[in-house]
Amino acid sequence: MEERCGKMDEKSGKDTGKKIRLAGKDSIERMEVRIGPKKDVVFGSDSGSPVMIAGPCAVESEEQVLRIAEAVRIAGAVALRGGAFKPRTSPYEFQGHGEEALRWLAKARDATGLPIVTEAVDEESLRLVVEYADVIQIGARNSQNFALLKAAGKTQKPVLLKRGMAQSVNEWVLAAEHIMVQGNMNVILCERGIKTFGDHARATLDIAAIAAAKSISCLPVIADPSHAAGDVKFVPPLAKAALAGGADGLIIEVHNNPEKALCDAKQQLDLNQFSELMDEMRRLKLV
Ligand code: PEP
Ligand code: MN
Repeated sequence: MEERCGKMDEKSGKDTGKKIRLAGKDSIERMEVRIGPKKDVVFGSDSGSPVMIAGPCAVESEEQVLRIAEAVRIAGAVALRGGAFKPRTSPYEFQGHGEEALRWLAKARDATGLPIVTEAVDEESLRLVVEYADVIQIGARNSQNFALLKAAGKTQKPVLLKRGMAQSVNEWVLAAEHIMVQGNMNVILCERGIKTFGDHARATLDIAAIAAAKSISCLPVIADPSHAAGDVKFVPPLAKAALAGGADGLIIEVHNNPEKALCDAKQQLDLNQFSELMDEMRRLKLV
């Protein structure tokens, strides 16, 4: 790690504090991040196919997550998502089943072999996520929560770092740097849409940001078409656009009964829709 740490520019005496060092390209063009108990799911590999992560917005019950995990595995997903701790806009909305949901996720991993990706919203939930999960998700709302980034950096668990809704690409990569400088190099960036004047979709999936992040950083970059779309009908086109634009993978919300979902009902694909999208992406040779 030492040789990858930049130094102050002694000649010019310039402040290099904003330089992207560990997450940059100075010593490595592309970095692979491996996840799962067998470390066999690889992000950012030049030879492998894009990594598909799928699962519900929130883990609602053991049966629900087991059923979805099995279906998305058969359809071609290689990792399972599902929120146990949900950052919600309103405090009156469902906040997640917490540690119990982590136990259900672990059962789903045992049943299917799919590594688990789940969000930590604060340092307390981070400790639990580290105990049960394979990847710590840090969400858009926490993408500049430096205490949380630092705490995630002190673990060796891979981190999926969403881009903040009003964060420049440079700020996003520097947020990854906050994790890496603590010693955890296993960071995956995730573009999930930003706030713009457009109101036709929940957010604006910034395809250029995928290329821009890859141009300044060695880290793998994936996309989340679900939170950008906010509506099932926009998820497939955004998923395909992100892969065509160079994303190293996707994270997609899938539910066995989206109408009854406890959160993000409008944007979750049902099991058939996810399977059809995977078929379509295979036909287009995107995965
Ligand atoms: C999520 O993936 O469950 C989520 C809350 O995403 P974001 O942080 O991108 O809104
Ligand atoms: Mn969601």
